[in-house]
Amino acid sequence: MLKPTIGLEIHIEAKTNSKMFCSCRNDPEEKEPNKNTCPICLGHPGALPTINKEAIEKIILAGMALNCEIKNYSRFDKKSYFYPDLPKGYQITQFDFPICKNGHLDVHLDDGTVKRIRINRIHMEEDTARLIHEGSSTLVDFNRSSVPLMELVTEADINSAEEAKKFAQELQLILKYNDISGANMEKGQMRCEVNISLSETEELGTKVEVKNLNSFKAVEKSIEYETKRQKEIIEKGEKVKQETRGWHDDRQVTMDQRSKEDAFEYRYFPDPDLPPLNISDEEILNIKRRLVELPDQKRKRFKEEYGLDDKSVEFYINESPLANYFEKVISELDKWRSHGGSKNNSTKACSNYIITDLQAIIKNDPGFEKIEEKITPENFAELISMLESGEISSNIAKIILLEMYKTKGDPSHILEEKGLSQITDDSEIENVIKEVLSNNTKAVEDYKKGKTNSFMFLVGQVMAKSKGKITPQKAEEIIKKLI
Ligand SMILES: [Zn+2]
Repeated sequence: MLKPTIGLEIHIEAKTNSKMFCSCRNDPEEKEPNKNTCPICLGHPGALPTINKEAIEKIILAGMALNCEIKNYSRFDKKSYFYPDLPKGYQITQFDFPICKNGHLDVHLDDGTVKRIRINRIHMEEDTARLIHEGSSTLVDFNRSSVPLMELVTEADINSAEEAKKFAQELQLILKYNDISGANMEKGQMRCEVNISLSETEELGTKVEVKNLNSFKAVEKSIEYETKRQKEIIEKGEKVKQETRGWHDDRQVTMDQRSKEDAFEYRYFPDPDLPPLNISDEEILNIKRRLVELPDQKRKRFKEEYGLDDKSVEFYINESPLANYFEKVISELDKWRSHGGSKNNSTKACSNYIITDLQAIIKNDPGFEKIEEKITPENFAELISMLESGEISSNIAKIILLEMYKTKGDPSHILEEKGLSQITDDSEIENVIKEVLSNNTKAVEDYKKGKTNSFMFLVGQVMAKSKGKITPQKAEEIIKKLI
């Protein structure tokens, strides 16, 4: 059987204050072209580069999060080639002495297994300028020229589109968690290239490179497409051509792309303007202390500590601000629990209200920025404990939640102000139910004939009539008594 063998090359723009070799601002959001430029990043002859310490710290952080060896000695080289986006005529990169070597990342696959994908290297280099094609002209914007760029190269350990996509997704989380990069693929802060070959034996087939992948979907779809295309060629008895192809998102195909890098001799040699990097073990250790909890550690902790299901855990892994909020609410709830109450139930209720109800409210608010500024964790915890104690129904909880979001008020005040308290007086409840029963005689008859659906219908009518101020339990009790 033909098996795909896949390797990834991923370029990542580091999030730093200034560029890689000069003090120009590194601002990916800058709209004015050629604003952040100087003789160094414009490639003027004789301009001398200096190394950005912050960028080096970011790549070391990335290397440690990805289980790499951090090299005490590394070096910058010149990679010579001509292209309009590269005014110096060479790119400063790292060739035979990269900073990070031999790492790995474990990814969780849909079938429940874990796949370890080895990382060959991560090295530091500089980004090129941006070319903008307008009609028959091409414009150059040098704001991106010499922005710190990390290049990560995996071993060819990947055997499916799913594995490649999951690797890229997990990598993006790690980069974002540690503030190493914005890692936004649509904005080009993280750019993937795929190498793919098909073979029936251990010997690798002809390698095809696919570029221009601007989303996880594109990574996945281009591999599926290439696997099929190469399989058809091999099954016809023909040979796959070694080439670089580009992914065309609109047509969902890869096409031959003449590459600027084909058949180039780069003539790498050490950059005489930059001293080699000597990083001590102590410096490496100091940077390591800044690593935050990684997504996989958080997955494990959320399962163990809160007993959440996989789907909820995955939601929080991808929504860090809401995950932090959830943890703050839980610690507030712990204070309420010291007065009694079930830990497991309220943790799950709290999580469900955040994932479904709160999330829906946030989605409908275009001006949303920070949840803590809308509802304090204390107030959210109080709402959950009111629900848990039976003081309010889930319908009322939803109404109060929306009101809390709008007014920043606390739940007990809203409950009182809006007159949303449960009706506790039995005779008042009976009056409501008597009215519902006399308006729904058919359902009452059906229930008497044994239709349980009709009973649930009547309970629903009572809930609606009382606007949630009678609990379903109480409604069931009184309906049974009155029929
Ligand atoms: Zn500059």
